[in-house]
Amino acid sequence: MSSLENRQFKLISRPRGMVKRSDFEFSTTPAPQPGPGEVLVKVLYLSLDPAMRGWMNEGRSYVPPVGLGEVMRAGGVGRVIASNDSALAVGNYVVGMTGIQDYAVVKANAMKTVDPRHAPLPRYLGALGMPGMTAYFGLLDICDPKPGETVVVSGAAGAVGALVGQIAKIKGCHVVGIAGGPEKCRYVTGELGLDSAIDYKSEDVPKALRQHCPKGINVYFDNVGGDILDAVLAQLAMKARVSLCGAISQYNNLEGTQGPRNYLSLLINRARMEGFIVFDYAARYSEGVKAIAGWLAEGKLKAREDIVDGLETFPETLLKLYRGENFGKLVLKVADE
Ligand code: NAP
Repeated sequence: MSSLENRQFKLISRPRGMVKRSDFEFSTTPAPQPGPGEVLVKVLYLSLDPAMRGWMNEGRSYVPPVGLGEVMRAGGVGRVIASNDSALAVGNYVVGMTGIQDYAVVKANAMKTVDPRHAPLPRYLGALGMPGMTAYFGLLDICDPKPGETVVVSGAAGAVGALVGQIAKIKGCHVVGIAGGPEKCRYVTGELGLDSAIDYKSEDVPKALRQHCPKGINVYFDNVGGDILDAVLAQLAMKARVSLCGAISQYNNLEGTQGPRNYLSLLINRARMEGFIVFDYAARYSEGVKAIAGWLAEGKLKAREDIVDGLETFPETLLKLYRGENFGKLVLKVADE
């Protein structure tokens, strides 16, 4: 095993604004050996997530920052190629935190087995993985949408947002998606079956919201923050619920985070805005996976992955998220299955 060459991206400086290739060191070292209770995983696919930008910042968050000199943190799917733990055998496919590298030594009990006969492996990083759980619990647990209510979701063509919109439809809601560009908006109403879509890049969002949500907004699932959050807050219905999932429009802001201006709408409408972190629902993931797998099998839910080939492209591929260039769950392919 020591002859295996392991390419790695290590964070070497804290980015200012958008990530640059020079914020990382791309180097090759021999693949490490697993110790007791550990396995060596050959990484096949990596999950690229908007949150990675936050993990590169110094300071307090829901997880510690990636340390300078450390391999960049990332979730991945791979195959066990050496095992020092009876729970996992060579040949098992697993999902968990692997980092941006070809080979990862990980604790066996930190990995979950997945089956490529049940779903394509990249789907375990999307609808059947962390983004799927984010959509499921962030919508249903935080907002409890009722049939007939109006639900608005931003980032509606993305990994989380596309699932949120479809789950809200399954729950009998009137659903409006906000996305960037005509192609994504066509996808949101066509393929995903939402009632309408707003192209925030070319439309007047407050005006379009008034048109598509004439009775006000009962539920808002916020993936983007910024001006779109403000536009939605201004049109909340009484007792509305806002799920604060993310704020991608703010992650690369050099001037700091733009807070909501229209927050008094929460007071006027006796509404609630609640943040959540998907990992808090870890004990209930099996419930979310079962529901999503069932809807996928019944054809009620569609999943889409945007797969880019090549570990070496990591810094540039990550930027696709912040430029809106990904279409569905962004996955980096590292090696052939
Ligand atoms: P994604 O939606 O697949 O990709 C990001 C999308 O954000 C882009 O495709 C782009 O779509 C949109 N975007 C980028 N810059 C924007 C801007 N300035 N204004 C408006 N939209 C912009 O990513 P994802 O993995 O599903 O994540 C979505 C959100 O969920 C992120 O905020 C992420 O941090 C959050 N999240 C939170 C949790 C949690 O536990 N709370 C877990 C997972 C993800 P357009 O082309 O439509 O602009």
